[in-house]
Amino acid sequence: MRAAQIPTPGEITISDVPDPKPLPHEVVVEVARTGICGTDIHILAGEFAPTPYPIIPGHEFSGTVVARGSEVPADLADGTRVAVDPSLYCGHCAYCRAGRGNLCENWNAVGDTVDGAFAQYVSVPADNCYVMPDGMSFAQGAFVEPVSCAVHGVRRLGVEAGERILILGAGSMGLVLTQLLNAAGAQVTVVDMVADKLTTAEKLGAVETATSTSGLSRLGFDAAVDVTGAVPAVHDAFDALGRGGRLQIFGVAPAESRIELSPFRIYNDEITIVGTMAVLNSFAPALDLVARRVVDADAILSHTFGLGEFAEAIDMVKSGGSLKVQIDTRQ
Ligand SMILES: [Zn+2]
Ligand SMILES: [Zn+2]
Repeated sequence: MRAAQIPTPGEITISDVPDPKPLPHEVVVEVARTGICGTDIHILAGEFAPTPYPIIPGHEFSGTVVARGSEVPADLADGTRVAVDPSLYCGHCAYCRAGRGNLCENWNAVGDTVDGAFAQYVSVPADNCYVMPDGMSFAQGAFVEPVSCAVHGVRRLGVEAGERILILGAGSMGLVLTQLLNAAGAQVTVVDMVADKLTTAEKLGAVETATSTSGLSRLGFDAAVDVTGAVPAVHDAFDALGRGGRLQIFGVAPAESRIELSPFRIYNDEITIVGTMAVLNSFAPALDLVARRVVDADAILSHTFGLGEFAEAIDMVKSGGSLKVQIDTRQ
């Protein structure tokens, strides 16, 4: 099969590799669409510690079941259209046993630590496959994984109707969070340095937008979510909170970066700081939210490339001028 492979950090090859064979509990999915995520950029740069090389990346994907292992349940028949949760939890560490598999000590994921979906075929555990409803396109199906990260984030943040919530970063994840928080009854304000992205944020429900927090009509937010991973944005988010506010770190910062926050203010204003990491029991709700258009995937999908154009697609993501970029692996 044809696959986009990263043989070693910094290098991309499009090559013929052996077709995957399913283990007894696995199915082979003929991939249709795969989204490019910030993690893929980190994997390409050699900045994602768990990744071994060579690897075929790609963890946001949809496709069709074409081969099944001997222990796969009959209802996951050949021809079933599926969106796939890439998470591979060990099931036996203390975190898995406490129901927090996303924090698994032996964490793995399709496309991050084992070969993924920037390829014609990928082998995945049958349990990770979610059947797509008839009206859902493959492009929408490949968008379920990032939405499931946002669903987990919203659960971790906790949101009450009527709250004022600030989102820093109007990339694809910021725009998903805008829609989810808006649907939950919050008043969502979005800040991004790129003015063009704010127009989309407004279409998707933001009540106010600006290119910096200093351009907003008022601060004192009940919660602020940083989706950039950039230290100055985290500081802005913290400063924009009202007393009793919650600061959520959703964006992925480099492991060595540090923020500087006033412990006095955290104490005196009862500020809560909340992390959120990937997907936890949130894939099925995300599939439903995409199917019902609570999250409008099509509004956030900005570019589609063929598998042979993987390097160009990566450059498009790095340019910052795109929202969600997907690969049509059948092209
Ligand atoms: Zn991702
Ligand atoms: Zn575990």
